[in-house]
Order: sequence, then structure tokens, then C-alpha cells
Amino acid sequence: MIAPRVLEAAVRLPDVPAYVYDLPALDEHAAHVRRALAGTELYYAVKANPDAELLRVLARHVDGFEVSSGGEHAHVSALFPDRPLALGGPGKTDDELRLPHHRIHVESPNELRRLLATGGDADVLLRMNPDLPVEGAALTMSGPFGMDDAGVQECLPLFTDRVRLRGLHVHLASGLDAPQLLRLAATLLDIGHDEVNLGGGMAVSYADPGARFDWSGYGGGLAALRRAGQRVRIEPGRALTAYCGSYVTRVVDVKRVHGEAYAILLGGTHHLRTPVTKGHDQPFTVLPTGGGPGVTDEPVTLVGQLCTPKDVFARNIRTSVRVGDTVVFGMAGAYAWNISHHDFLMHPKPRFHYLYR
Ligand SMILES: *Cc1c(COP(=O)(O)O)cnc(C)c1O
Repeated sequence: MIAPRVLEAAVRLPDVPAYVYDLPALDEHAAHVRRALAGTELYYAVKANPDAELLRVLARHVDGFEVSSGGEHAHVSALFPDRPLALGGPGKTDDELRLPHHRIHVESPNELRRLLATGGDADVLLRMNPDLPVEGAALTMSGPFGMDDAGVQECLPLFTDRVRLRGLHVHLASGLDAPQLLRLAATLLDIGHDEVNLGGGMAVSYADPGARFDWSGYGGGLAALRRAGQRVRIEPGRALTAYCGSYVTRVVDVKRVHGEAYAILLGGTHHLRTPVTKGHDQPFTVLPTGGGPGVTDEPVTLVGQLCTPKDVFARNIRTSVRVGDTVVFGMAGAYAWNISHHDFLMHPKPRFHYLYR
């Protein structure tokens, strides 16, 4: 499942740990998503991975970027001064509310009042937190995000000529497949606004690295649900960039403790926190570059160099692994390096390599 060109690059890397980003794979994937969506607008949720090289590839395919802070806004505006930005995020400061935008996703009636008080122009989507069942989601975004119907009703009379209501925004959950998302979309598009942003959250399966979200089914389904003249937009993050990144490292030790086999790898979850936050086994390939002592075809737990039992990449996975082997973790292109606690234990930071063809 990890592309041969990534594995070839991995064994040649002078220094590990390192991240390898397969830009042609990202380009191809984003082109496929774009085609499948037909008339639905596509924004990329920058928080999934703000790496500038990735953003440059994505910029060829997306209509705009969704940014969730002043920091992301500055980063993306510097790279692409002319691309539409949707500004979201709970807890926006007054300075953030003043930032130029194509759309701003307002999270509460008080936030709308503070936006009005800035005296600037704004094009608003109200972020709804509708009371809809989302079964099978990896993470539901209820709780503090957006507003319920009472909050929306409170906002409606506040709009002016300069602070305009454009439509609705919803980001309900993460890890939903196309039929689940389409069922939600059917309800939400029916509320009948000129413009609806349906958010991200398209399923990514770390247990089944070959599986892909059904973009054609989703794009076709949305086209069928869309009313005449209605603008529909989505803003995926993970399902766009997860697949193009790999984290490459090397085995420092293999040992058995109370009968359990462990491979200790350079680096750790302070570089790749995804398996800890999601509670999964990060998919990997072992390349036999070592030849040191090891274990053959038995369950092994792969851990990093951190002094905590939580520093686990994958637990009890049947594999062969020797000291000096190269381990390549796949699906490390989203919510990986940028969500990790980089300075814990002060080990060296990984290098970043980009495959251009
Ligand atoms: C995180 C987030 C996204 C992207 O979610 P993914 O699960 O990465 O697709 C989109 N919209 C909002 C508002 C978000 O908070």
C-alpha cells in the first residue's frame, strides 16, 4: 500500500526519522476528487496539514482554503494572495474577525455581535450544530461548535448591508462514509439556503489503507440533491492529504519483555501523534535494511524513544523486524507532524523530503 517510489526513497535517506511527501500521488488524488465533485466547490481544511509544498499542489485543484486561525490565515494568504479563504474556528478574537475573507463561519450570536462591532464588511455562513444523529462517526463535533436553532434564530435579525448572511455551514463529524454524509446533506440542503458548506470529515480507514472514500458517489449524490442556483461547498482535510505522507524511521532495539516483543524506533509519537490521538495501529512496512538481532513473523509492538508507555505506533502486529531495519509508516500526511508534541524529550526533529515525480 505504500508506493514503491516512497519505499525506494526511504531506504536511501541519509538521516531518519524523516517525513516523505509523495507530491505526484497527492496531485493525482486531488485531481480525482475534483473531477468526482463536478459542480460542488472544494476547499481544503488547512489544519489537516499546512505544509507549503502540499498546499501548492492542492492549489491546482481546490477552489479555496478553509483556515481556522489568524496564523493559518497569514500562512495561506502569503502563499496564495488571491485565493478565496473561508475563516472558521471557535473562539475567534476581534483581530481575527477583522481578517479579509471570502466567507466567515460565525459560531455564535455573540461572535456575530462582535463581528458587527468591528464595523467591517463580512460575508457570513452561520455554523449550525443541528440535532441530527450521526452514527458510526469517529468523532462527533457536537458540544461547543456552532449553534443550535435558537442561536441561529437569534442571529437572523442582526444582519445588515455590510454584514451579510450568505448561508449555512455544518461540520458534523469525522469519519463518515459517502452514504452517511449524503443522508445528512439531504436534510441540510433542504433547509433551503442559497449557499451551504457541508464541512469535511470524509472517512479515512487506518485499518484498511487501500480503502478510499467514495468521492464519485458523494459528488454525484450532492449534484442530485443540489437545488437550482444553490452553491454547495465541502472542506475536507484528512481525506485529501492523509495518504501522501509517510514517516520513515529505523529500528534501534528489539527486545522481549515478559514475553512480549518490542521494536524500539528512532523518533516517536512526538513526531507522529496520529495513532495515539485516534487510538489505532499506524499502518507500516518494514524494509530489511538492518540484519541485526530481531524477531521473525510474530506479534510485535512498535514504540518510539519517549519515556512514556503511550509512545506506541502499533500494537501486537505480526511482522519480522531486526535492529537497523527501516520502518515506513504510511497514512502520515494529515494530523501527523503538525498535531504532535515536538519538544517532548528534545530529540532531533525529523527531516522533510518531497518527491516531485
Ligand atoms: C477539521 C475541520 C474540517 C476538516 O475535517 P477532516 O475530518 O479533516 O476532513 C473541516 N471543517 C471544519 C470546520 C473543521 O473543524
